[in-house]
Amino acid sequence: MRCPLVAGNWKMNLTAAEGEALVEELLHIANELFDIDVVVCPPFLSIPKIADVCRRSRVKLGAQNCFWKESGAFTGQVSVRQLIEFRVDYCIVGHSETRGRFGTLEVPEGTTGFFAESEETINLKIKTLLYHGVTPILCVGETLAERGGGITDQVIKAQLEGALKGVDPSELFGLVVAYEPVWAIGTGETCDAAEAERVCAEIRRVLGDIGEPEIADNIRILYGGSVKAGNAKELFAQPNIDGGLVGGASLNAAEFFAIIKGA
Ligand code: PEP
Repeated sequence: MRCPLVAGNWKMNLTAAEGEALVEELLHIANELFDIDVVVCPPFLSIPKIADVCRRSRVKLGAQNCFWKESGAFTGQVSVRQLIEFRVDYCIVGHSETRGRFGTLEVPEGTTGFFAESEETINLKIKTLLYHGVTPILCVGETLAERGGGITDQVIKAQLEGALKGVDPSELFGLVVAYEPVWAIGTGETCDAAEAERVCAEIRRVLGDIGEPEIADNIRILYGGSVKAGNAKELFAQPNIDGGLVGGASLNAAEFFAIIKGA
């Protein structure tokens, strides 16, 4: 039995004080829910403040990214060691915005993105997170062009294989995968629930090939891409969708709570 999970990705939104106020609102509701994991992923600078609030609640803390080295001359980076000091339990890895394949500044396919994320760096981050006992939320998903070209499943398979290369199958238990079609992120366009379910089932099948089907059965697979209160229930009712990774709608306590209820 997989416990549903709803994670809010705040991206570069909210000051630490604004984030604290939002989590204070969430506490009351989240503390009453025992059959679901609720995670907030604030910007790095807000983590210490939000960690203090989360300590009093069932809301778990996630980071939006990490670096794989423990320490050293890596200007602007944050290590997993630094994250666990604040009891960060989850970390998003390979989000399409860090893969550099999204938004108005989108770079041509195959070239270096803003954050120079690649399958290799994603793989290094996953291994480091698993080593430290932090749950990676691995994002995979196709662009509109890839979907139009009929290669969605191929793209996602390659992303999963690249991200999990050399990871011991037994470690896959500590993994969450988020299916996030790039064309649905922040656009208001949601993937049809039946199609999202088809892709998530395919993700589970590929995970079974990489590890073992029994392990894949226990991995939580989330859907992300313009999830709102109005579409969460149908998406989360799909057998292979175990919750959501929510961007914009996680910035509003009432909307986020309605989404959590949908799971
Ligand atoms: C995301 O950032 O992972 C995301 C899914 O964003 P949104 O919900 O705003 O589409």
